[in-house]
Amino acid sequence: MLKTLDATVLAGHAGYQDHERIVALRDENAGLTGFIAIHDTTLGPAMGGCRMWDYADAASALTDALRLSAGMTAKNALANLDFGGGKAVILGDPRKDKTPEMFRALGRAIEALGGRYITAEDVGVTTADMDFTAEATGHVRGTSASGLGDPSPYTALGVYHGILAAISHRFGANRLAGLTVSLKGLGSVGFRLAEKLHDAGARLIVSDIDPAAVARAVEAFGAASVDAGEAHRVAADIFAPCALGGGLNAETIPQIRAAIVAGAANNQLASEADADRLHRRNILYAPDFAINAGGVIAIALGLPGVPESRIIEKAEAIGVTLNAIFARARAENRATAHIAGQLVEERLGAERARSAA
Ligand code: NAD
Repeated sequence: MLKTLDATVLAGHAGYQDHERIVALRDENAGLTGFIAIHDTTLGPAMGGCRMWDYADAASALTDALRLSAGMTAKNALANLDFGGGKAVILGDPRKDKTPEMFRALGRAIEALGGRYITAEDVGVTTADMDFTAEATGHVRGTSASGLGDPSPYTALGVYHGILAAISHRFGANRLAGLTVSLKGLGSVGFRLAEKLHDAGARLIVSDIDPAAVARAVEAFGAASVDAGEAHRVAADIFAPCALGGGLNAETIPQIRAAIVAGAANNQLASEADADRLHRRNILYAPDFAINAGGVIAIALGLPGVPESRIIEKAEAIGVTLNAIFARARAENRATAHIAGQLVEERLGAERARSAA
């Protein structure tokens, strides 16, 4: 059921970044096919959610697990959490193919890893699914017993503080009043972020592929709306991508009119080169894995008995982390995403040196 994949075979696979361990999950009775990728446990057990998605094939699911787990190493390191990076993916349509037994089988696989990987919800996976997983393992967060609920409000809070850090760096004042934000994606995070920005006096231009979500935001916040494809190129001070997938690439970056790009979406940059493209255009980019860590902070700290104020404090500290990234990027005249990557390496390097001493 649990098969460790050989690094020599995986070395050429898209997304592979010297991962510590990758296991293939296969339990025919439970209808479970998937992967657990453990990228790096230098800072602690690998923590990252479980995603269920109707992948085209196993190879694309593996690539997703590899990329997402490496991203979690960076996200956890920058959020100053004592966790490494990992991710689980399950192949299947979450609307049709889910069964409780599938998640119990996932739990058994996680249990067999002995605590090296801790799971939680991600796209396509709910608190109820995590409850089934928890029947077989304790290495799971975000169950109904944790009392945490949906982590999106903490993600929105962190993004909001990241935006404050960005405007203070770029415009010299920590005030949203009078600024315009183009916000793309009005889901669990985007809508809550819109509410905070509106309350702080920002003007909103909203977009989503779901017309009902747009109508709600227009009604609630007196927002203007644009077609989702136009969100990055409208006249605004801040572009906040909060939809799925990135969209910052060679075609879109030259069209951006905002001075700041700061939003919740994962994997915003299509490639490494896009970090430099934004830098050359003097657009201040808040690296996604730094600004959107509020959810994982909530999952990491959200255990029974931990006061919510601790989660809030740490989510707000995302603004402090971003200040440091922006200041160093300015001093070294380098792209913010590269500086953020370097900070991750520095934290991992310091921990490796400490444990080797
Ligand atoms: P969600 O599914 O609740 O909302 C996504 C919204 O984006 C939906 O309203 C959808 O209609 C819209 N959308 C999808 N494709 C679009 C497109 N091409 N153009 C415009 N709108 C589009 O998701 P969410 O939980 O709000 O997460 C939003 C983003 O933030 C995702 O990239 C997610 O990976 C990332 N993120 C979320 C969390 C969290 O706590 N939920 C944490 C970290 C990162």
